[in-house]
Amino acid sequence: MANNKNILISGAGISGLTLAYWLQKRGFSPTITEKRPDLIDRGYMIDFYGSGFDVADKMGLVDALQARSDQYQITEVAFVDNHNQTRAKLDMIKFRNLLNHRYFPLMRGDLETGILEKVKGIAPILFDTTITSLKNQKDGVNVELSNGKSETYDLVIGADGIHSGVRKLTWGEENQFSHFLGFYVACSVIENFFDTPNVCLGHFEPNVQTTVYSIGENKLANFFAFRSEPLNIHGHEAHMQALTDRFEKLGWIYPQLLNETQKADHLFFDAVAQIQLDQWHKERVVLVGDACQCLTLLAGQGASMGMAGAYMLADELHKADGDYKTAFPSYQQKLKPEIERRQNDARGLAGSFVPRNKFEVGMTHFFLNAAFVPGFSTLFKNQIGAKSIIK
Ligand SMILES: Cc1cc2nc3c(=O)[nH]c(=O)nc-3n(C[C@H](O)[C@H](O)[C@H](O)COP(=O)(O)OP(=O)(O)OC[C@H]3O[C@@H](n4cnc5c(N)ncnc54)[C@H](O)[C@@H]3O)c2cc1C
Repeated sequence: MANNKNILISGAGISGLTLAYWLQKRGFSPTITEKRPDLIDRGYMIDFYGSGFDVADKMGLVDALQARSDQYQITEVAFVDNHNQTRAKLDMIKFRNLLNHRYFPLMRGDLETGILEKVKGIAPILFDTTITSLKNQKDGVNVELSNGKSETYDLVIGADGIHSGVRKLTWGEENQFSHFLGFYVACSVIENFFDTPNVCLGHFEPNVQTTVYSIGENKLANFFAFRSEPLNIHGHEAHMQALTDRFEKLGWIYPQLLNETQKADHLFFDAVAQIQLDQWHKERVVLVGDACQCLTLLAGQGASMGMAGAYMLADELHKADGDYKTAFPSYQQKLKPEIERRQNDARGLAGSFVPRNKFEVGMTHFFLNAAFVPGFSTLFKNQIGAKSIIK
């Protein structure tokens, strides 16, 4: 029977839900607090492969994720110029082959709700609830919750993302740990305004990148990325203005995209940053996922590595029979060097997502066209972090 069984996880995202699943499997009793009122947000399109795919396989999730991914039928992404002429193509069938068919394009919400199905009934989730104060004590962690309750848990785990509340309460302000990479992204689900139900387009211009995918039900998942100085802007109106300032004058289909984005139910807008902190644990509190290891959303593997981290943390706690003084350092020692390596690669790769000038736009098209040429394909596979760290 494990010690320190009673564990509070902050955040019912991809890392927090995965962690709850594995902790419960290993004999612990996790409870989750989640600040959102529910998990129905579909989010944005993600590529899912590598370590996270292996964890999902161990959870028996692959068939369910396959069914969700099959809805999207993404076979090719065409990167077009302002006149809709195709300049590069990414053949998604070849991409899937390169990853030995262990790859799904998914909406973030598909992955989250897929994992949620596995957690239902085994870990209570307190929705609309955050930790407002946290005291690391010798025998446990005293927490006060936004629902007015005070509780004591054996351990508290922050799986609450890049803007983690647990990290702030335990380590201090985010600006000490967050490293801005010079980009912003914005994503939304919008109405399909094309004449065809199957749209899969990408567009590069100096300092911007945009992709638009059909996701069924006559909806498109839209993704804007742009280079920028740090912006101190908040709220939907300011975010829309920042997008309009940069994209409206670029022609192509930007007027329609902006118009539909304006009408969307939800607009995700955030800076592209990495999280780096020396120690991921402090006494009875530890971090997992983007809260401590954010690679950047341009790395294409944050969800996957968050699942890997959650799996490894539960495993270390299990092996140490709940002794956090052994488990937390061991988890950090096994994962952090790999994260630092991937963060380094991601910093290099980030620039190619948003080329600086016409020459770099041309180079990006060239590399996309060459992605599956023998020699290049190995490089490509390494660059996207396809190698799994899960044994
Ligand atoms: C546009 C975009 C594209 C991406 N593409 C990819 C991709 O192709 N492949 C990939 O693998 N990854 C991708 N990512 C990254 C991936 O989405 C993240 O790395 C992943 O979601 C991290 O999971 P997490 O559970 O650690 O954090 P999050 O997903 O951020 O989840 C954190 C959870 O905690 C909750 N929360 C926050 N604060 C609190 C609080 N104070 N109290 C309680 N709950 C709280 C949040 O509501 C959320 O439910 C992309 C990200 C973006 C933004």
